[in-house]
This record gives sequence, C-alpha cells and structure tokens, in this order.
Amino acid sequence: MAFVITEPCVDCKYTDCVVVCPCECIYQGESQLYIDPDNCIDCEACVHECPVEAIFSEANVPAKWTSFIDLNRTRTQELIALGNSGMSEKSSEPAGPRCKN
Ligand code: SF4
Ligand code: SF4
Repeated sequence: MAFVITEPCVDCKYTDCVVVCPCECIYQGESQLYIDPDNCIDCEACVHECPVEAIFSEANVPAKWTSFIDLNRTRTQELIALGNSGMSEKSSEPAGPRCKN
C-alpha cells in the first residue's frame, strides 16, 4: 500500500508534506505533488501536515478521486525518469488559479 495525493492539492501545492516525509518520496509536478508508491513507507506523517486534507492511504481514497492512485504512480515514474528528486524543503511558490482552498 502507499499514500496518495489527490485533487485538493491541485494548484495549491503548499508543500508542508515534503518537510516531514522521511523518504523524500514526494515529487513536484506542474499542477500538484505526487507520492512515489514504491518508496512510501506508509508512515502517515504527511497526512497530518496537509492543510487541505489531500492525502489518503490507497485503501481510503474517496471514490471520486481513485484515478489519482494511478496518477501518483505514473507521474512519479515520469518525474524520476526526467531526473527529478523527491522534495525535502518547503517551496514558496504561490498557489495557482485552480487552488480551491
Ligand atoms: S501539503 Fe497537501 S496541498 Fe501541500 S503539497 Fe502536500 S499534498 Fe499538496
Ligand atoms: S506516508 Fe510517510 S513515507 Fe509516505 S509519503 Fe507520506 S510522509 Fe512520505
């Protein structure tokens, strides 16, 4: 199992989650952040840091957001292939227009 970042993160990308992740397995994409399911150790630390409650365990992702399970896997694989590293420091990037929070 792994944890999954879902829709509320889109364009918000507050990045509080990356600071507490012990594995640096959270990657920044253009519109949101993604968790690499192959390296997530299910510690749940990120869940409690997210101000918009975007992070769920794979088994508990709300039905309307289950597509994010595959999206987190495929996007992290693409970002890793492009040479990106997992984030460890909070970003100061402002939220985008699609951030609903
Ligand atoms: S803390 Fe929440 S909103 Fe911020 S980047 Fe992480 S998942 Fe996205
Ligand atoms: S559950 Fe733990 S290991 Fe997985 S992404 Fe969140 S903080 Fe990182």
